[in-house]
Amino acid sequence: MAEYRTHSYDVLVIGAGGSGLSAAIEASAGGAKVGLLTKSLLGKAHTVMAEGGVAAAMGNVDERDNWRVHFSDTMRGGQYMNNWRMAELHAKEAPDRVRELEAWGAVFDRTKDGRILQRNFGGHRYPRLAHVGDRTGLEMIRTLQDHGIHQDIEVHMETTVLTLLLDDGRVVGAFGYDRERGRFLLFTARAVVLATGGIGRAYRITSNSWEYTGDGQALAYHAGAALIDMEFVQFHPTGMVWPPSVQGILVTEGVRGEGGILKNKEGRRFMFDDIPENYRNQTADNEEEGWRYTQGDRNARRPPELLTRDHVARCIVREVKAGRGSPHKGVFLDIAWIKERLPNSAEHIKRKLPSMYHQFKQLADIDITKEPMEVGPTTHYMMGGVKVDAETEMSTVPGLFAAGECAAGLHGANRLGGNSLSDLLVFGKRAGRHAAEFAKSHGAGRVDERQVEAAARQALLPFEHAAASGGESPYQIQHELQEMMQHNVGIVRVEHEMEVALHEIEYLKQRAAKVGVYGNREFNNGWHTALDLPNLLTVSEAIARAALERKESRGGHFRDDYPDKNPEYGSFNIMVRQGPGGEMQISRVPIPEMPAELKQVIEEMK
Ligand SMILES: Cc1cc2nc3c(=O)[nH]c(=O)nc-3n(C[C@H](O)[C@H](O)[C@H](O)COP(=O)(O)OP(=O)(O)OC[C@H]3O[C@@H](n4cnc5c(N)ncnc54)[C@H](O)[C@@H]3O)c2cc1C
Repeated sequence: MAEYRTHSYDVLVIGAGGSGLSAAIEASAGGAKVGLLTKSLLGKAHTVMAEGGVAAAMGNVDERDNWRVHFSDTMRGGQYMNNWRMAELHAKEAPDRVRELEAWGAVFDRTKDGRILQRNFGGHRYPRLAHVGDRTGLEMIRTLQDHGIHQDIEVHMETTVLTLLLDDGRVVGAFGYDRERGRFLLFTARAVVLATGGIGRAYRITSNSWEYTGDGQALAYHAGAALIDMEFVQFHPTGMVWPPSVQGILVTEGVRGEGGILKNKEGRRFMFDDIPENYRNQTADNEEEGWRYTQGDRNARRPPELLTRDHVARCIVREVKAGRGSPHKGVFLDIAWIKERLPNSAEHIKRKLPSMYHQFKQLADIDITKEPMEVGPTTHYMMGGVKVDAETEMSTVPGLFAAGECAAGLHGANRLGGNSLSDLLVFGKRAGRHAAEFAKSHGAGRVDERQVEAAARQALLPFEHAAASGGESPYQIQHELQEMMQHNVGIVRVEHEMEVALHEIEYLKQRAAKVGVYGNREFNNGWHTALDLPNLLTVSEAIARAALERKESRGGHFRDDYPDKNPEYGSFNIMVRQGPGGEMQISRVPIPEMPAELKQVIEEMK
């Protein structure tokens, strides 16, 4: 019999980033007893890394902005694969959520007349990102945490959930362990909110932290929930490419929002070479106009560097493939050039982009006020994830909710920068509210001891393998998976490489089932990695299968063998589910017809 401690809650929130904290605060405000779990320390969740800002159509800098423009920008950015109801709720509710954050103490940058300042970002028609320099995520986490600790929420730090517990198809809790001592923990709950973030660690080059192993998506999948849009992985165009030890670390889009330009080794601003038809009338056709836009000229159109991320990333890949890249297989991102336009440019850059200045100075010995940066695409964000109901954020499994990056729907085929932080606030709050309501209206479920025993046995297998035969290192498998996904299911995809990927994943699964770890259960990183592996493999398989199924190129998903958009594929999302025999099943779910009034909004904003 496994030994474990038990904690009981009305609502269990798994993940303490922006979405988890928002959900926990709201559930607690709704009268629920709330438990909040995080793999890392409180305040260290991935949200803390967010830089550029939170998108909300407050119209503080340009009064022409409103929810209708934000809605249509989000839909266009997502190539109309978005759940339109989520996009509508998001655009309508984001301003109130930002003001709520301000009321709770967030100190945003200000306009001259004291309102929340908003900056330009890719795909947003007007300056829309409320920000705190380039450290917006830190301020968001700090504020939510300061507010949250007064809400009677019980926090379990350095705690990893290994499995969700089910009672007759309904989620009734979770089983996991504390990372510090390795002790097992059982959490019973009437409702569970997944807020576990993304999947970036399935790839070698990523901006994501160690926490991003796709746990929430995998937990939901194994509990029987549907995932959608798993083929839509966002490769952010600007990650660091040099030195190798920092490859993938994000260079915020805020650099381009502040006037940074992309150049190839010939010094050419190559983004002017390829402006997609559906953005042509919103995009500057000369450098002068682009600069004026970044300086707030309301009559100027945005520079092509601020086109959507999927497009910019592919243009960079094209330059590198054509031999026009920078020395380390990237391109140049230059903000230093603004000295030609602004007298105090060095001070301006340091004030607007303090983290970027320090990041390059300390990690690459580059002074971005004087020299260009070298940048290239990095795995950044997962548009796909747990399929949820737009109003309540409940998944297809009763009692299981999901919000933030681990949920899907809002962003469609491509997320606009800044729309994640607002997603966390809008849908985190909604998930918390509806989870609390679900908990109130449903009695406690029954926890099946056999599920707990099986999970505990499974978790300890790596020690048994090491004792019996040594077993393979989990790090080796993690490394091979990341290399393989980078190469075979990366930014440019093709059928035969994805077939190889599926074959490799099968092989890696077999090896992962036999990994061995030495030592004891106290803060044993090898053991943690061994327990992350099944999640990484599950999400990798889901990405590869969905990407194979989508025989077209759209948003974050680019197929070299089907380089064009196919209108037929624009009418459905791809759904991934576990079949009765444990196999992964793929199906197509039609996108519901958009109501006439929303269609009209899109038409008006064209
Ligand atoms: C460098 C960088 C900059 C970014 N900048 C911006 C920006 O400017 N604007 C914007 O909108 N978006 C930005 N993003 C994206 C945005 O930060 C993320 O999408 C968002 O923060 C995700 O929040 P979340 O609440 O979903 O998850 P997270 O903040 O990642 O939190 C996940 C939580 O789940 C926990 N967890 C995971 N698995 C388990 C498990 N098995 N058991 C228990 N706990 C678990 C983790 O420990 C963590 O507490 C940026 C991303 C990066 C990487």
